[in-house]
Amino acid sequence: MTDRVQNVAVLGTGVLGAQIAFQTAFSGFRVLAYDIDEKALTEARERFERLVHTYRAEVKGADADKTDAALTHLTLTTSLAEAVSDADLVIEAIPEVLELKQRVFGQLADLAPAKTIFATNSSTLLPSDLVDSTGRPDRFLALHFANRVWQFNTAEVMGTPATDAEVVAAVVAFARSIGMVPIELQKEKAGYVLNTLLVPLLNSALALAAGGYAEVEDIDRTWRIATGAPLGPLQIFDIIGLNTPYNILANGSAGDRQLAAWLKHNYLDQGKLGVATGEGFYSYA
Ligand code: NAD
Repeated sequence: MTDRVQNVAVLGTGVLGAQIAFQTAFSGFRVLAYDIDEKALTEARERFERLVHTYRAEVKGADADKTDAALTHLTLTTSLAEAVSDADLVIEAIPEVLELKQRVFGQLADLAPAKTIFATNSSTLLPSDLVDSTGRPDRFLALHFANRVWQFNTAEVMGTPATDAEVVAAVVAFARSIGMVPIELQKEKAGYVLNTLLVPLLNSALALAAGGYAEVEDIDRTWRIATGAPLGPLQIFDIIGLNTPYNILANGSAGDRQLAAWLKHNYLDQGKLGVATGEGFYSYA
């Protein structure tokens, strides 16, 4: 089954789409990356250039030859039809908006050949939310990457009850062949494995800090020492960036909204967004 996927199309070349496309090309696959207009493609080229530098600095064996080869395997296009015309696998990484994703899968249903497997990288939608628009329920599933794919290399694979077991196996094999550790879910679960574990931990840490129960450093220290984990939850927040949890909490329950307000007042309003801005719960030189 490892040969089932040769040509890959990635839809959306933002934060995750660019990483998925680059990692796939870096692993030797031919990749067509699609975005909506020339401006988005210019930004994609800039993202790929930054990834070249990051890979050379952080990825073992990523010398100039290998990163140059990755760039030659990548083709950018604003034509959805061209992107998917010979794709064995389409990985969708467009904005997290249900109607938008449904519309794009609806277009793909008409444009892609019968052989094409469709995968969504959605973090919060279930594949069942999208399956009806794909026109091929047996060849559709979620393939969920983590930000910084070259480093945090889990790939969660989650089908619907209609997904063909051979399609799951092909996508698991593909994920492994681009250097990911595939994590197969046996049933659909919002948040997959990772966020089902991580989100309650992060929110509990935030509630401890916002409630004044313990200092930031002590919350993290407790987690690190008592479990052997390398990072505490508030350190993880700094890496994710504080905007993302703020946006999620601000749309949540009354308790979540209180945490969001605390985060905004003490961090976001001070420009403290985490590692990316040099300061969040901690300062970064
Ligand atoms: P992003 O906003 O950085 O990128 C989205 C890209 O999609 C942009 O380049 C945009 O121009 C493009 N786009 C917009 N409309 C489009 C359309 N109709 N067709 C094709 N492209 C279109 O978003 P992101 O953070 O890369 O997230 C994309 C998906 O990946 C989401 O489903 C998100 O849940 C998931 N995801 C994100 C992360 C993360 O840490 N950012 C992690 C895992 C999964």
